[in-house]
Amino acid sequence: MKEQILAKFAELFGGESPVFASAGRINLIGEHTDYNGGYVFPGAIDKVIMAAIRPNGTDKVRAYSIDYGQMCEFGLKEEDKPEQQWARYIFGVCRETAKRGGKVEGFDTVFCGNVPLGAGLSSSAALESTFAYAINELWQNGIDKFELARIGQSTEHNYCGVKCGIMDQFASCFGKAGCLIRLNCKTMEYKYFPFNPKGYRLVLLDTCVKHELASSAYNKRRESCENAAAAIRKRHPEVEFLSDAKRLWLDEVREEIPQEDFLRAEYVIGEVQRVLDVCDALERDDYEIVGEMMYQTHFGMSKLYEVSCDELDFLARLARKMDVTGCRVMGGGFGGCTINLVKDELYQPFIEAAKAQFSAKYGHEPKVYDVVISDGASRIA
Ligand code: ADP
Ligand code: MG
Repeated sequence: MKEQILAKFAELFGGESPVFASAGRINLIGEHTDYNGGYVFPGAIDKVIMAAIRPNGTDKVRAYSIDYGQMCEFGLKEEDKPEQQWARYIFGVCRETAKRGGKVEGFDTVFCGNVPLGAGLSSSAALESTFAYAINELWQNGIDKFELARIGQSTEHNYCGVKCGIMDQFASCFGKAGCLIRLNCKTMEYKYFPFNPKGYRLVLLDTCVKHELASSAYNKRRESCENAAAAIRKRHPEVEFLSDAKRLWLDEVREEIPQEDFLRAEYVIGEVQRVLDVCDALERDDYEIVGEMMYQTHFGMSKLYEVSCDELDFLARLARKMDVTGCRVMGGGFGGCTINLVKDELYQPFIEAAKAQFSAKYGHEPKVYDVVISDGASRIA
């Protein structure tokens, strides 16, 4: 990828250039916990956006996207927002850097990537983090990595119309090979845990479906969580977020809240505990427990939180039937990918069965993404 980028850069702009990259991400466990003040547990993957970026001594950016085969030129003032969606991510990062007092001037760039777009691996965060990291280094702004992640998040909010949390950009900026990162979404404290599943592989199966309920259902889930937390708070004032509640405290208010809210809260409180259990298991190198927790999360998301769908449940059932170590829906739900922890020797038969049986039922094969936990944002040349 690097050679291709540098060759294109030389052709368009002449000469050499520094090269930067940042990664997409997976989240092993900890879903719908972020807005409840709980933990998420992401890691950067071996799929990246890579960019040659070189200051050009003007006040304009000239950006070429290899994957779109398009050039876009834009200025750095607020009113210079470019037309192309892909260029808005770069423009947004420039603007958000400037808003934080960072220096950024014109540059030439050529970039491409192999993070699948819109598949739940956060190609957009990889793109933002690549440019946030590079601009910070090229103009020596000294912005810390957390703020670089926030630059990416604010870019999504203010220039791309996506009200996302911090997890994706955090993972892309902080990723480390062979490590997952447990992030406390209330305090923003984080800790690295080893993830070296020898004898296992991590593979995602993309259902390639997106059911439309997602955003209204999401708002309803948030409401349920807030209701449950409010009921618990009356007896236990220290409960700021639902994740602060003990399971026992939820049982105390069972009769006071709608059954639906109870089930949603049961999932969230269980999920927060499962992240902790997975971290313990990783410190003992016990990947069987990790896998079991993944199945429990899938069950919770499907039956308690009710954000799964037929296609995802089908893949999770098949995984269970074939003795795959762990499988669950990854991301918000209603479509997208399952994330699977599979023993090496089971990998081939599982993937073949998933393709054949899924396509017999749904008319298309799931897409397969192998992932390895890898480094996040860095300069690579
Ligand atoms: P994801 O879940 O992958 O983050 P998004 O819709 O948030 O999906 O972001 C995808 C967008 O990010 C694309 O529409 C494009 O604008 C930009 N993008 C991602 N990867 C690339 C790439 N390789 N080249 C150009 N733009 C990209
Ligand atoms: Mg995105």
